[in-house]
Amino acid sequence: MENNPLILIVEDENVISSYISTVLSANGLNFIKASKGRDAISMAASHCPDLILLDLGLPDMDGLEVLKTIRQWTGLPVIVVSARGHEREKVEALDLGADDYITKPFGTAELLARIRTELRHSRGIIDSKSTGTGKITTGELEIDYEKRLVLLAGEEIHLTPIEYKIIVLLSRYIGKVLTHDFIIKEIWGPFTGETYSSEIQALRVNMANIRRKLEANPGEPKYIVTEVGVGYRMTED
Ligand code: CA
Repeated sequence: MENNPLILIVEDENVISSYISTVLSANGLNFIKASKGRDAISMAASHCPDLILLDLGLPDMDGLEVLKTIRQWTGLPVIVVSARGHEREKVEALDLGADDYITKPFGTAELLARIRTELRHSRGIIDSKSTGTGKITTGELEIDYEKRLVLLAGEEIHLTPIEYKIIVLLSRYIGKVLTHDFIIKEIWGPFTGETYSSEIQALRVNMANIRRKLEANPGEPKYIVTEVGVGYRMTED
């Protein structure tokens, strides 16, 4: 297992950290564990893990402080583990440089999907996949960047330029959550306090239109899911 990715599990609750480590071992991933923030920082430096799973509620320091400290010297993928309903904390973590988050309680499939997405992104496999062939597919959805076409089950979907830009942006980060702020800055440029709420509104309207065009059931979207209070995520198949 020497060449397998090494995951640093930062979690003070033994039950959860044992659960995570069992799942990782069963799936060919190596792990090391820290139950305190200070240990997490020193182990991140000494072991150079491929990814960190970071619980935000730690006994000795705030997980966000751990994240801030780690981000001073490394861009390695960090997935924060947060409690249900702590949307502001999740957005803050993403703003501080976390790559994604997972909400407790989470299942095995969700945990592995998040980890695999981050490992692929950090190794540039997804980027080379999408730029190498000039297209990306998920389920029956295909985005052809060179031809500027979006196809669903082989049928062309007609999109406005803004809708197209939003889909391309989400697809470039497929599997990852993008915050409202990030999407707005990328699509409409840096915002000022006065126009922000209208940009949020514009994003919602565009997303509703995109879903009407892409999704069989816009109320239960398959390709672009809402992360309540945080943003949107394009799902990988
Ligand atoms: Ca905790």
